[in-house]
Amino acid sequence: MDTTPLSLDEIHDLAFSVLAANGCDAANAEAVARTVTAAERDGATSHGLFRLPGYVASLRNGRVRGDADPTVTGITPAFLRADGDGGFAPLALERGLPALADAARTLGVAALAINDCYHFAALWPETEALADNALAGIACVNYAAVVAPHGGSEPIFGTNPLAFAWPRPGADPVVADMATAAMAQGEIQLAAQAGHPVPEGTGVDADGAATTDPAAILAGTQLPFGGHKGSAIALLVELLAAAATGDAFSYEVAGDSADGGPTRGGEFIIALDPAVLAGAGSGARSEAFFRRFEAIPGARLPGARRHGRRREAGPRAVDSALLARIRSLAA
Ligand code: NDP
Repeated sequence: MDTTPLSLDEIHDLAFSVLAANGCDAANAEAVARTVTAAERDGATSHGLFRLPGYVASLRNGRVRGDADPTVTGITPAFLRADGDGGFAPLALERGLPALADAARTLGVAALAINDCYHFAALWPETEALADNALAGIACVNYAAVVAPHGGSEPIFGTNPLAFAWPRPGADPVVADMATAAMAQGEIQLAAQAGHPVPEGTGVDADGAATTDPAAILAGTQLPFGGHKGSAIALLVELLAAAATGDAFSYEVAGDSADGGPTRGGEFIIALDPAVLAGAGSGARSEAFFRRFEAIPGARLPGARRHGRRREAGPRAVDSALLARIRSLAA
């Protein structure tokens, strides 16, 4: 693949200008550009510039509001709602997370529902933001139905990612963030573009037959990771992100992402302060646990690879064909 080096500032400015040229106001363009830049910074390319054409498509056809003005309200002291106002998730998150963190610090635990928003970014930014405030965070979101439940070949789940972060004083937080599909859809799209096969168990073709051809899976159905166990976690995500927030189930927005953009739906985030239940020594106890974990040969904590990429100085290598496509979208 031919690549072009871009600094993080250049990536941010490119994302901002393309979004602003296609109907985002400054606040929304800034929030999405920050999310895209953070993904490129951390080497999470399937949620970086790769997503910009989809963001733009959904702005151009009017599905998503570029001038959304999200608002945050308290349903109860422990349950907050951020109304995304039909816009992309990053601005709703930026406005909702500080209120969630405040509520969790006061009450010990609190939850935030994000409604009426369009989400197809990674989830680690929101959970990591909570861990940066000495809180543990759990987040999940659903997506258009593209994943069949274990035993079936008819899609009902989205790729339904689930993320959690745990604070570590003086160190990077532990952050796990994973699709409950065997493979995130963005990774399958990247494999299809590159012409690489994907592992067995990723999905089935349109006739329900097992295949390792990413294009055939995109035309067919994805599968959950880990058989019936992953399928149960995908079900939990569906219930928290749709039933608990009162927002769309994945099957209700199945055709939504045909333009390559995000689907409408909800996100559910829980924040908790471990020190409230476990006392002031809880940080030291989890640290002892993490040290023991890290001492196991061959094992590493989730998030460590991504944080390592973050610390790499210098420009990021951007697919030149993608870059040309994105630059043409600013016109
Ligand atoms: P991966 O399978 O790449 O990684 C999942 C998690 O496992 C990461 O936290 C990763 O940490 C960790 N991990 C990977 N390898 C190891 C290892 N050897 N030991 C310990 N931990 C490890 O993620 P997915 O492909 O499933 O998901 C990619 C992204 O797609 C996620 O950010 C997800 O939120 C996003 N997504 C978003 C959707 C949406 O609609 N908004 C839909 C579906 C997915 P590390 O990063 O350090 O490697």
